[in-house]
Amino acid sequence: MYVVADGAVAPKNNFVLPFLLDGLELHGRLVRLGSAVDEIILAHDYPAPVAHLLAEALTLTAMLGSIFKYKGVLNLQIKGDGPVGLLVCDATDGGQLRGYAKFDRTCLPTFCNKKSNAAQLLGVGYLAFTVESGPEKERYQGIVELGGRTLEQCAHHYFRQSVQFEAVLKIGVSCDRDKTWRTGGIMLQCLPRKESMAPNGKIDEAWKQHRDLVQKIKPITLYQSCISPFSVLFELFNGDNIRVYEAKNLCAKCSCSKERVELVLAALPNEEIESLKVNGNIVVTCEFCNLQTIFRESDLTELRDTGRLE
Ligand SMILES: [Zn+2]
Repeated sequence: MYVVADGAVAPKNNFVLPFLLDGLELHGRLVRLGSAVDEIILAHDYPAPVAHLLAEALTLTAMLGSIFKYKGVLNLQIKGDGPVGLLVCDATDGGQLRGYAKFDRTCLPTFCNKKSNAAQLLGVGYLAFTVESGPEKERYQGIVELGGRTLEQCAHHYFRQSVQFEAVLKIGVSCDRDKTWRTGGIMLQCLPRKESMAPNGKIDEAWKQHRDLVQKIKPITLYQSCISPFSVLFELFNGDNIRVYEAKNLCAKCSCSKERVELVLAALPNEEIESLKVNGNIVVTCEFCNLQTIFRESDLTELRDTGRLE
C-alpha cells in the first residue's frame, strides 16, 4: 500500500518525487523529465549518443539536487579525454535545470549508437559535484575518478567514494521518432541509522533486496508519462508501506542574461573588447541555452557613456 503525505498528487512530467519505505527507513526519489530535458537538448545540434548522455546527466543532477539541502546551484561536471570532453549540468534549489555537452564530432566512435556507453564517450577523467550557495559560500561536495561503463555506474562509484550512504539508482532515456526526449530515474538510499530503529541484520537484508529491485526495473517504466509515478512505486515495492511526499516541479531555465554578459565585458581591458568584435559587433553565445547576445557599437557606446564599461 502507499500513503500520500500532505495531500501530494501524482505529477505527470518534469518532477522529482520523494518517497520513503516506511519501517525500512529507505529513502528514495523518482524523477521524470519531459519538456524540460527536451528543451535543453534541442537547443543544440547534438549527435544522438551525446544527447543521450546529457539526458542521463540531467536526470542524475535533478535527483541529486533533491537530496542535498542547499540554497543556490548544484553543479555536476564531468570531464574526460574521450570524444565528449565536458558535460555540465546545473540544478537550482527552485528546480531550474540547464546543461550542455562539449564534444568533438570527428572523434565520436562510429560504433556508438544512441544507447550511450559513458566509458567510450567520456574516456578517462573525473566527475565532480559542487554546491554553489553564493560568491562567498561555495561548498565543495566531492570529486571522483570516472569509474564504470555507464553513468549510473559512475554515480555508484561516486556514492561509494564520496558520500556517507549507500545508494542505488537507475536511469531510463528515450528519444521518439519525432526526436522528443524523455527521461526517468529512480534512486534509493540506505542512510546510516540508529541501532534503535531496527536490527541491523534485518535492515541489511531489506536493503539488498530493494537494491536488487531497483537494479532490475525496466527503463521504460521510468519515463513513460502515461503511468502514474505512484503506480510505478506500488508495482516495484508492492510488499512495502510506501509514503510519498509532495513532488517538486522541474523546468528548463538558464540563468544567463544581458546584464551578466555586461559584467563579464566590464572586467575586460578595452583592447580585449576590441579584439572580440566581428564586423563591429560582439556576439556572446551562452554555452548552456545557446542564446546569442549581440552588442553593437551603439550598445558599447551607451555602456561607456553610463560608466558600465571602461
Ligand atoms: Zn543561457
